[in-house]
Amino acid sequence: EKIIVNGEMLERNGFYVDIEDRGYQFGDGIYEVIRVYEGRMYTQEEHLNRLYESAGKIGLNISYTKEELTDHLEKLIQSNQLDTGIIYMQFTRGASPRQHAFPVEPVPASYVAYTKVMARPEVFMKEGVKGHLVEDIRWLRCDIKSLNLLGNIMAKQSASEAGCFEAIQHRGETVTEGSSSNVFIVKEGAVITHPATNLILNGITRQEIQKLCSESGIVFEEREFTVTNLMAADEVFIASTTSEVMPIVEIDNTVIGDGKPGQVTKQLQTLFWNRVVERAKL
Ligand code: PMP
Repeated sequence: EKIIVNGEMLERNGFYVDIEDRGYQFGDGIYEVIRVYEGRMYTQEEHLNRLYESAGKIGLNISYTKEELTDHLEKLIQSNQLDTGIIYMQFTRGASPRQHAFPVEPVPASYVAYTKVMARPEVFMKEGVKGHLVEDIRWLRCDIKSLNLLGNIMAKQSASEAGCFEAIQHRGETVTEGSSSNVFIVKEGAVITHPATNLILNGITRQEIQKLCSESGIVFEEREFTVTNLMAADEVFIASTTSEVMPIVEIDNTVIGDGKPGQVTKQLQTLFWNRVVERAKL
């Protein structure tokens, strides 16, 4: 199994992180997860664009072009003969003596990428999963895909302990997003999701869904909605790179709609998959 370290392809076994790598010590870095279907990356341009945006927002310099990164990732997929799975990549602000402020003498960012086999969650997508409400205790720059995931981790753990697939976070009455997904409700045929502000990560899957809705004449509204709106929605679903369009059929023992994946959710699942087949030329 190969990995990419600072642009080089290495064996995974035998690679270690410096104890003063700022990603390791502070979570001072950013990451992306890209879906791979049948050996082909899906929406990699969008993911790489967001990677550079996140880097810009924390003042981290990525010394590779998008073409170089794409080339590394394609070679890694090939070398590991990845069929369906993901590529994880991260950049940290490098290794230097521990101090909170950025290194005075700039050090190169540490860059690693690896692949992982991951099937599409077909049974969950067909049957729907449970959600668990959690207060959103994260910082106010959730638009950055930061390695600092403690808030997300605490939320997900709480959902897991409640026997649920995903946490649904809310700041007071306002529903923000999942621990690693965006949250959508369907009310009278309209798909509603939190606006792409500093309070959520603007998911690539979210943006795909937005396009699919506009192409198919489904009303798509970016606006705040409340926990009460959520519980009274006709349908609820989450979306992410790994979960695609995932129906939520129950939230903390309250059944959503009729307790089955809804019509609009199912339609979006079909539209999403058609788009994957078309864009990735499967
Ligand atoms: N919000 C958060 C907090 C996430 O971690 C993710 C997963 N990266 C998403 C939303 C969904 O983003 P995407 O569709 O790009 O995977």
